[in-house]
Amino acid sequence: MYDYLIVGAGLAGSVLAERLASIANKKVLLIDKRNHIGGNTYDYYNSDGILVHKYGPHIFHTNSKEVFDYLGYFTEWRPYEHHVLASVDGQLVPIPINQNTVNALYGLNLSGEQVQDFFNSKAEKKDQILTSEDVVVSVVGRELYEKFFKHYTIKQWALDPSELDASVTARVPTRTNKDNRYFTDVFQAMPLEGYTNMFHRLLDHPNINIMLNTDYKDVLDEINYKTLIYTGPIDGYFDYCFGKLPYRSINFKSQTIDTENYQATGTVNYPMSQGYTRITEFKHLTGQRHEKTSIVYEYPTAEGDPYYPIPRKENTEIYNQYKTLAASEPNTYFTGRLGTYKYYNMDQVVAQSLALFKKINKEVVAINGNGLVSAAI
Ligand code: FAD
Ligand code: UDP
Repeated sequence: MYDYLIVGAGLAGSVLAERLASIANKKVLLIDKRNHIGGNTYDYYNSDGILVHKYGPHIFHTNSKEVFDYLGYFTEWRPYEHHVLASVDGQLVPIPINQNTVNALYGLNLSGEQVQDFFNSKAEKKDQILTSEDVVVSVVGRELYEKFFKHYTIKQWALDPSELDASVTARVPTRTNKDNRYFTDVFQAMPLEGYTNMFHRLLDHPNINIMLNTDYKDVLDEINYKTLIYTGPIDGYFDYCFGKLPYRSINFKSQTIDTENYQATGTVNYPMSQGYTRITEFKHLTGQRHEKTSIVYEYPTAEGDPYYPIPRKENTEIYNQYKTLAASEPNTYFTGRLGTYKYYNMDQVVAQSLALFKKINKEVVAINGNGLVSAAI
């Protein structure tokens, strides 16, 4: 008999498995339908011996010391600050848009203050910032919005930015200084030996059994467990009873090139008419030295694995119906990017799982403390 059956061996499921096994001494069965652990962060050495990320570039960054320290039990870190260039008007310029971007694009030499004045002169006043168009246009104006955001967003989401929640493009700020980093989080680093190695250490516990290549629906009746933790798509769990939640997927086209270095930064974004959104060269991220290099192109698509929940009101309304149903599902918790239909970064998923563990553990302690051993635990 397992105390917990956890569906999904990504960050959400694996962090919970580790906490329940090692802190609460619970017996856990972790199931994934893929042939590997790690979920979308999975990395491996390709046939040329280059460490690549199977599901697109994963760069770790967080402001949470708790999350950074927690993962630090299972990996050493390699300091890495991600830089991204955007291919605009025949030039490669830094994104997030900053002082260097404006000066390079327009052949100017503006100070930070002058860049702020430049933005102010272009910005369109909005009473309310509701959409992903509003976020950008209200700060830098329509021209830069069209160059950097409009077409990239249409490619990525198959929606105009005006049809997406503000939170989507708000992930990419605007700066008036010369900070070319993509992220400004306090902690920015990559697992020294890769994500998959970190997962092997996370899950290396006698209380954890792992079953790969298994869809939980095919084995649910055969497994004895008390509580289910589900990190797959929430609409699938409920057989799409309120309709399908839309997700975006990506076709990853990888290539190894017989040259040591392909591009100047980890990622180059292509916000114009190319079919792909960005190209990432993994050696920048991993720090690996190799005579060849591997890159990946990202082609967004509607079909395929559900990678991105699509943040917009219509979808949140559908999700809220599933959420209400989920709250009344006995002995079952939903978490993770797909289980809660949230456009979460890795650190947010880890924080969410740590919080859920604390909640579950408190419930266990409270019920045991009352002398009741609940069937729900
Ligand atoms: P997942 O990793 O998706 O894990 C869910 C698991 O459940 C999967 O392994 C799946 O196979 C399994 N599953 C689903 N259904 C079933 C079923 N029926 N039976 C059995 N198993 C099932 N975050 C960052 O912080 N930095 C980045 O740079 C970054 N880049 C990203 C790039 C891309 C292209 C994508 C798609 C995401 C990126 N992310 C990034 C986000 C990051 O991938 C997620 O936050 C994190 O991996 C989510 O973890 P999870 O466990 O919730 O989900
Ligand atoms: N975005 C854009 N142009 C860019 C970078 C980002 O329009 O050069 C928009 C786009 O809508 C994208 C969103 O901002 O989906 C979030 O970007 P981020 O790089 O965080 O996307 P992720 O890494 O999650 O795919």
